[in-house]
Amino acid sequence: MEIKVTRASVLKEKPDQNTLGFGSYFSDHMFVMDWNEAEGWHNAQITPYAPIPMDPASMVLHYAQETFEGLKAYKNDGKIFLFRPEMNAQRLMKSNERLCMAQLEEELFVEAVEAIVSYEEDWIPTNEGTSLYIRPFCFATEVGVGVHPSKSYKFIIVLSPVGAYYPEGVNPVKIYVEDEYVRAVVGGTGFAKCGGNYAASIAAQVKAEKLGYTQVLWLDGVHRKYVEEVGTMNAMFLIDDEIVTAPLEGSVLPGVTRDSCIAILKEWGYTISERHLCIDDLMEYAQNGRLKEAFGTGTAAVISPIGELNYKGNIQIINEFKIGTLTQRIYDELTNIQWGNIEDTRNWRREVK
Ligand SMILES: *Cc1c(COP(=O)(O)O)cnc(C)c1O
Repeated sequence: MEIKVTRASVLKEKPDQNTLGFGSYFSDHMFVMDWNEAEGWHNAQITPYAPIPMDPASMVLHYAQETFEGLKAYKNDGKIFLFRPEMNAQRLMKSNERLCMAQLEEELFVEAVEAIVSYEEDWIPTNEGTSLYIRPFCFATEVGVGVHPSKSYKFIIVLSPVGAYYPEGVNPVKIYVEDEYVRAVVGGTGFAKCGGNYAASIAAQVKAEKLGYTQVLWLDGVHRKYVEEVGTMNAMFLIDDEIVTAPLEGSVLPGVTRDSCIAILKEWGYTISERHLCIDDLMEYAQNGRLKEAFGTGTAAVISPIGELNYKGNIQIINEFKIGTLTQRIYDELTNIQWGNIEDTRNWRREVK
């Protein structure tokens, strides 16, 4: 791919690595590319980070044909690493397919990510726990308010140096089990990473935060009975000696971190079951001590221990609101692979040259 580069005339001051937070700062440049039926993907550019002019009738603004991805770049000893970027590429293809949007080949996606990350190398923070969050996204740009698949799209990648996702750090979070709103149903777009899913989920997030909770645990959209996932993460539960996570049947987002955890836990000899888990059973296991640990998995927070569940006012504390042994172990394993601190026996780390 040929990429036209336009350098920003003034570069921003880099933020303090100790107070990055999540998604508040953006680097100097972005990757932009266009698609139309005649030319396919074309006009690939690295340009100064700036607002994008849009027609008010651009289709994305009305019917939400928009998909996105989230991955990170890490810098260690002068080397830059990505973590399984081909998984993000494949997932974006599935998301775009579901939303009838233009397809982006895996090689093109990875090439674009690598190009912008190496161009913005100086923006990769190096303090422990920090990384460069990569946000590729794709949206409909055709002008018109008739409902049909857009005939043109933009693909953009922006970069944000980030610290820990939660201000609490790798400490347990309080989770509100949502029994009124639902996130997704089989046949809908739950498996696609699209903005529309989030638009529909914000009401529950607001409600949970009002009640003092960090995120919600979603139940299935049909019975409001089976545990699905947590806000922006997949969820895993250590019950006795079995680790349980929701199966991928169309309503749950297929997380890269989820997939990686499953592989690691299997290697470590754990029984891991992708199965339906009834919320009433889960609350009972929490009450009688059979629920040993619970955690969320996702690129942003990596692993996030769940310390409390509130379901219809029944409040259960998990593992005395402390990070569990297994939760800590899997967090260490994943972050050490991502950071390049240990040997990468599974071929997950990709060095950006
Ligand atoms: C992105 C996302 C996840 C986590 O996926 P990762 O690939 O592990 O980052 C989980 N649930 C939802 C709803 C998501 O959008």
